[in-house]
Amino acid sequence: MNTPSRFSLFLAHCVAGCISALSATILLLQSASAQSFPTENFMNNGPRSNRVNLVYLSDGYTSSELSTFSVHARDMNTALFATSPFKEYRTFFNTSLVHVPSAQSGVLHPKTAPDCPATMPVIRPTTYFETTFDYGNIHRLVVPRRTDKINTVLAASVPDYDQAFVVANTTEYGGSGGTYPAATGGNTSSFEVMIHELGHSFAYLADEYWAGPQYAIEKPNMTANANTTTNKWSYWLGRGNIGIFPYSGSNAWFRPTQGGQCKMEALGRPFCSVCAEAIVLKIHTLVDVIQAVSPTNFNALTAPASGTIVFRLTLLKPDPNTLTVRWLLNGTPWGSANAESVTIPVQNLVVGANSLTAEVVDATAMIRPANQPKRTLTWTINRTAPTSVVADASAGGLSIFPNPAEASFAVQYESSCASANGVVEIVDMAGKQLFTKALGAQRVGQNRVALDIVEAHLPEGAYLVSITTDCTRQTGKMLVSRKR
Ligand SMILES: [Zn+2]
Ligand SMILES: [Zn+2]
Repeated sequence: MNTPSRFSLFLAHCVAGCISALSATILLLQSASAQSFPTENFMNNGPRSNRVNLVYLSDGYTSSELSTFSVHARDMNTALFATSPFKEYRTFFNTSLVHVPSAQSGVLHPKTAPDCPATMPVIRPTTYFETTFDYGNIHRLVVPRRTDKINTVLAASVPDYDQAFVVANTTEYGGSGGTYPAATGGNTSSFEVMIHELGHSFAYLADEYWAGPQYAIEKPNMTANANTTTNKWSYWLGRGNIGIFPYSGSNAWFRPTQGGQCKMEALGRPFCSVCAEAIVLKIHTLVDVIQAVSPTNFNALTAPASGTIVFRLTLLKPDPNTLTVRWLLNGTPWGSANAESVTIPVQNLVVGANSLTAEVVDATAMIRPANQPKRTLTWTINRTAPTSVVADASAGGLSIFPNPAEASFAVQYESSCASANGVVEIVDMAGKQLFTKALGAQRVGQNRVALDIVEAHLPEGAYLVSITTDCTRQTGKMLVSRKR
């Protein structure tokens, strides 16, 4: 195991501030020659409209070195998605590379930082995004200076990107966070630097080492609030290694781990629970776990006269799957746990408006229960009163006797086919179902079933009795009366 090495990542707010005045002009000049570069889509997990689209951009790779860039970026990507929580949510991402050739090979090194290695010379290659060492007088702070050109390239080549990452062509160690994070491509720590920088840029995470007072700001894993009750990560306290620890450089600011236990402090370590939660929550802001749904007419669904309606979700699942699904028909749980589809017999709907709700929650242990993302869909299903009511109980081949009934009654009916199943259903005059019972196999011709008023829980009143077979549905009216 290597000793975790410290490294520095800076939000490049100085980059934005220092050149913002210049960039408006530059953008105007470049818009006339906006150039799109070859884009290589190499991890495709679904429609770009519902994925996190991650893009790697090359800098300091000449045309003949772009195949090396491809190897560097693919290796970074492999390492990223072997790392939790990106690993569990891999299918929530698409990844592409934009092959941007530079005129010359390498990364600028003006040698202006006090900590520059003596052995590393001054070099000034002409590169597309002008990525440089020594940013902010720190040698390893590697920053692509031409964010204006990154904007232009992204707009022309991958306008639907969610997160871009610059890979700079040098074997020297370095990287930075910010809007466009960067890492060097050929160093043995490149993968780890890349994942750490992505933590900054993608999930707005702070370093869990002291990077200086200019970076002290409220973030998911950095706070000035040390109160164990009101601290933003209080849920995680006492779970694993999470606490409220002062930074080594400031007693006024606090972090969830110390001693090099989180990737935001030290290379080669996992993200701590607080950081992992922030990453998963960010993923959920960009991707809807409900990828498709059927039917799609949520407000104007009309139930057929009989039969069933099937409702179906197509879910995008983490691996392992942590999604839970709950269905509610008129507020009552329906279907089996976590079912992605439910079948609703029309006879289970009330006459009038019904609501069917599907609730999908990512119940991952990586997110505290109160923050677990929940998606809710609701269909309104209208059922009209049965129109094929046979008012005369003896009509339509169905007869009920005695009628009015007191204690028990029999239903005699015709089936025009041999049917594997038959169902008897009793509804009140408002269409509310009171009783249903499977009758088993039905023969062609006359069938008969005896029913008990008590078993059917029928108070005095008027009811509709329906018999449904595979080929026939017959309904008759029945009265229940009691001797007084
Ligand atoms: Zn240097
Ligand atoms: Zn952390």
